[in-house]
Amino acid sequence: MSHTGLDAVSQKLAEAERAAGRTPGSVHLIVVSKTFGPEAILPVIAAGHRVFGENRVQEAKAKWPALRADCPDLELHLIGPLQSNKAAEAVALFDAIHTIDRPKIAGAIAEEMRRQGRALKLFVQVNTGREPQKAGIAPEAVGQFLAECRDIHGLTISGLMCIPPADADPRPHFEMLAAMAQRNGVAELSMGMSGDYPVAVACGATHVRVGSAIFGTRG
Ligand SMILES: *Cc1c(COP(=O)(O)O)cnc(C)c1O
Repeated sequence: MSHTGLDAVSQKLAEAERAAGRTPGSVHLIVVSKTFGPEAILPVIAAGHRVFGENRVQEAKAKWPALRADCPDLELHLIGPLQSNKAAEAVALFDAIHTIDRPKIAGAIAEEMRRQGRALKLFVQVNTGREPQKAGIAPEAVGQFLAECRDIHGLTISGLMCIPPADADPRPHFEMLAAMAQRNGVAELSMGMSGDYPVAVACGATHVRVGSAIFGTRG
């Protein structure tokens, strides 16, 4: 079965990979399903897609256990802010967390992964635009925070994630994130949403997070 939105994005993603000289199919497409219910998600699963993103622990907890029961090879990514009192639920529910952004969260996630015997893929969120209302580590503090994750909490951080300011040209933010990742020896880059994922791929994204271009606008 095919899915119009998924097909369109997959095709555009493949074109962006080709244009950037990247291996076709090498960029992970995270289909962001926040606010959408099973009736919207099931056709994307039926089309063969397995990787999804949610921004709230409670919403994911209400939606995904039933979907997973029917499709055990699903991969679920947390792309929204995380409170430390939700760490246990997040580690139980998700396969990856993109929003590690302070020592308390790093510690809580490390403890829960040990306790539950689970290893999640982890990204540190960077506030590349230094927006006061936005989560993320300040750019100049990334090196020290990564060292703290590794040395104090024993965490393996796979990559960096950013959400550029809404009204800005995203390219300098993507380039900044890519340079920071390279400097700090982390391989993966979670960047690019519906409006800018081809640019993110050109700048080295390994994971793009795309919602509305696949499902339509959120209500
Ligand atoms: C909602 C969301 C997305 C997807 O946004 P679209 O513009 O719908 O593609 C990506 N990343 C994060 C962190 C989000 O919260």
